[in-house]
Amino acid sequence: MSDCIFCKIAKKEIPADIVFENKDLVVFEDIKPSAPAHYLIVPKEHIQSIAHLEGNHRDILADLIYAAKDEAKKAGLKGYKLVFNVGREGGQMVDHLHLHLLGGWKNNGDIDHKRIPL
Ligand code: AMP
Ligand code: ZN
Repeated sequence: MSDCIFCKIAKKEIPADIVFENKDLVVFEDIKPSAPAHYLIVPKEHIQSIAHLEGNHRDILADLIYAAKDEAKKAGLKGYKLVFNVGREGGQMVDHLHLHLLGGWKNNGDIDHKRIPL
């Protein structure tokens, strides 16, 4: 997809703060963080959303979750949220599949976890 912003980040055509990369995916910092730590885990293959997954995407989907787990550990996040927004009605603004990794809150009751907008 030539006009897709996440394809361009994956191909290094536009800059991003990439913290991990392998042959199938990239992990980079969200430009407008919704949490003290906010990363996006993005497959290099252009898949529009969870609703567009096909049978051959099982491995990549599992890889996204394992990459999120590894990044959370690296970043020292004790607890975190993993979120897929799906479609405009689900809050998805970038039409390239991505998993949000959100964390870094202090466990001091200063945040209502049920009311985090994303
Ligand atoms: P969603 O609303 O689930 O599609 O999330 C898209 C996310 O991508 C938002 O949290 C944006 O802040 C983030 N984003 C958009 N453009 C960039 C960019 N160039 N670099 C890093 N994050 C981005
Ligand atoms: Zn794309």
